[in-house]
Order: sequence, then C-alpha cells, then structure tokens
Amino acid sequence: MELSSQQLALKERARALSNGLPRKRAAEIDQSREYPWDVVEALKAERFMGMTIPKEYGGQGRSFLDTVLVIEEMARSCTVSARIVVEANMGAISTVMAYGTDAQRKRAADLVLAGDKPAICITEPDAGSDASGMKTRADKRGNRYVLNGKKHWITGAGVSRLHLIFARVFDERGEELGTGGFLAVRGEAEGLRMSKRETTMGLCGMPEGELVFEDLEITPDMVLLPPSGFKRGFADLINAYNSQRVGAGTVAMGIAAGALEHAVEWAKAREQFGRPIGEFQGLQWMLADMQTQLTASRLMLYAAASSRGPGDSSFPDPALAAQAKIFASEAAIKIVNDALQVFGARGYSRDFPLERMARDVRMFTIGGGTAQVLRTLVASKVLGWKLPQTRDGYVMSKAKVDR
Ligand code: FAD
Repeated sequence: MELSSQQLALKERARALSNGLPRKRAAEIDQSREYPWDVVEALKAERFMGMTIPKEYGGQGRSFLDTVLVIEEMARSCTVSARIVVEANMGAISTVMAYGTDAQRKRAADLVLAGDKPAICITEPDAGSDASGMKTRADKRGNRYVLNGKKHWITGAGVSRLHLIFARVFDERGEELGTGGFLAVRGEAEGLRMSKRETTMGLCGMPEGELVFEDLEITPDMVLLPPSGFKRGFADLINAYNSQRVGAGTVAMGIAAGALEHAVEWAKAREQFGRPIGEFQGLQWMLADMQTQLTASRLMLYAAASSRGPGDSSFPDPALAAQAKIFASEAAIKIVNDALQVFGARGYSRDFPLERMARDVRMFTIGGGTAQVLRTLVASKVLGWKLPQTRDGYVMSKAKVDR
C-alpha cells in the first residue's frame, strides 16, 4: 500500500519522537510500573493525542491509518506509549465521536486534547468473552440512570478521567431495555471507585484495574445513546469500538518491528566461530520468516484501518479488523520470541529490551477480544451464519438454518 507524502512525513515525525523519550524511558516505565505522564506531555506536544478528533472539536480529523502509522513507531520503542496513542484516538473516543451529542463530543475532545486517555469499561469477572452476560446495571430513576456493578482489567484505571461504561439498562418498572454506554469523569462522578490494581506480566506502566460503581448517578447529558437505541445497543457500541482492535494489533506489530530491528543489528554485531552470527543460514531464515510475517501483518492492519464497515462509514470493517488482529498478534508473539532467541542469553536478560518486549507482546491475543473469539467472528462472516455461543442459542440457530 502506497503512503502519501504527508503520511510518510507523519511516520518520520513519530519515529523521531519514539527514538527520543519513549525509547529512553521504556525500561524505567516497565520497572517502576508508573504511568508515564512525561510521555503524555511529549505526545501532546506532537499532537498525537486526539489526532482523529474532528477539527471542529480541536482535533485534526486524521484517519485511522494515520493513527496506525504513529502507533507502530511508538511501539518499536515503548509499548505503553503506543497504547496511550491507541486509546487517545481509537476505541472509546471514536465511539463518543460517532454517537455522542455535540456537547458530549466537545467534553470528550477537551479531555483527550488535554492529555487524557479514556477508559473503556466492558469486562467483568463473570463476563469476559461473553461480554453480553455483564451484570452491571443502569436503573432509570426519573431522568437519570443509577449504575451499580463491577468491571475488571480496565486499562487506565486510576489514571483515566473519561470512562465509557457498558451496562444493562432497566426502566423504572425493572424491565430490561438493552445495553447502553454511560460516560463518567473520574474526579467529578461520585460512586466510581478503583478497588484494585491488577498485577500484570507486562505492559507494566499502564495500570489495569478493577472498578466498582456504587450508585453512580449518570445525568441525561452523559448517556451515550446508540443509534438503534438500547435494544441493539451492544452491537452498535462494539462496532464503534472496533477501531481499537486495529490499534491493538498495530501495537503488537510495532513491538515485533522493534524486536526485529534489534535482532538484525545483533546478528550483524555478535560474532561466534570467528564470524557474525548473521552469516549462519539458520538465523538468516529465521530473520526472513520474521520479516515476512511482519510485512503481512502490516499490510493487513493498513487494509483494516482504511476499511469501512457495512452500514456506517466511520468504523473499520469488523471482519477485516478481527483478521488483522488475530494475524498480527499471533505473528508478533512469534517474531519477538525469535528475536529473543537471536540474542541468546542476553535475550533473557533484563538488561536488554527483548525480555520486556516478549512480556508485553503476549497480551495482544487476549485483550480486546481473544484470538479464539475473533476467529468465531470471522467464521460467522465466512459461513454467513450467526454463531451464538450459548448451547441453546446454537441449537436454535442451527434449527433455523436446517429449515
Ligand atoms: P474468558 O472469556 O474467560 O476466556 C478464557 C479462554 O476461553 C480464552 O482463551 C478464550 O479465548 C476462550 N473462550 C471463551 N469463550 C470462547 C468461545 N466461545 N469459543 C472459543 N474460545 C472461547 N476489558 C475492558 O473492558 N476494558 C479494558 O480496557 C480492557 N483492557 C485489558 C487489558 C489487558 C492487559 C487485558 C489482559 C485484558 C483487558 N480487558 C479489558 C479484558 C479483555 O477484553 C478480556 O480479558 C477478554 O475479553 C477475555 O475475557 P476473559 O479474560 O474473561 O477470558
């Protein structure tokens, strides 16, 4: 895919930043587990926060492909920095830009442009892949909604200000209406509390946390109403959230690109048997396979970022986004693992970046839809069938197909 001269310039600018502060700070961020506010400031200065926000709200109206170019460059050096770019441009913020009222968009844009990385709150202890089984409820009381429930593994818990919370909606008689999105701003909303920080294997400077909602009151201006109402709310909200999958796949691909660069340099510099180890065909073919997988991942992600889903032109195509995330996340784990192998014992050392990259990259087949669940989405598209995963749902849908 040919990039325009502006896109190449954007990529260059992102690479220059990535080689500076994020590269210098990556190991420290990993060890301290502290959210890198200094990197946020640097991202803000380069206008990489809120790039996709339309110009009328102070953003630049840039495309998801532009964002992907920046994410890849950041991830080469520092995964946490790259994830901030994802969340400041895709996922929750693009959902608000797609479905929000004018005032909601303005509010969300102001927060992100000031340095906030919004949090998306879907997963619960008993509702992971089966997100529609969530228990968090929003009960209508007069013109407000009162939220109660618990979410876990929420990226940015304790640092994010804007939260987009998915909840099951009930009317005043207790009748269920569907699923809604509710906006809450930490520091302003009472009843929104972080109860625990998860202990993670990698991505350590980005807090993952458990959030509790205790009679969290949502005023009408903070209800994000999906276009087809609450009834089909879950599908609408997840569709809009879809860009996040492209972003997550790109972080994985960017880590792999960085790891491959390290491996190539090392293969040229390290000598054994009186010659650079890169002269051994055993390693040459590994490097060739790594590059091939990387190129394929990049092309799939660029295609997914540039695509438009059916019915609504503002989101990437869900099936292309799923395929790109499956392929890129799995390929990246292999590429980084092989890059670590090229380094020998040093690959296993905390004094070199490969072990951090190997821990970081492992996440991307899990968060934002596991590789298995995304395969079901792709299979559904290939077969042209709905593939409900509950036992009775499957039997019912099969009966329909058989008839
Ligand atoms: P489970 O659903 O319990 O799955 C366990 C295993 O079973 C997996 O291998 C899964 O693929 C498999 N499985 C389950 N159902 C099926 C099926 N039907 N077919 C085949 N295999 C199946 N969530 C948020 O809401 N907001 C966030 O910001 C967020 N950030 C995250 C950050 C990190 C670092 C991580 C690790 C997770 C994050 N998540 C977040 C949660 C993430 O989306 C969930 O972990 C994911 O959806 C899987 O849910 P689960 O962990 O409960 O696994």
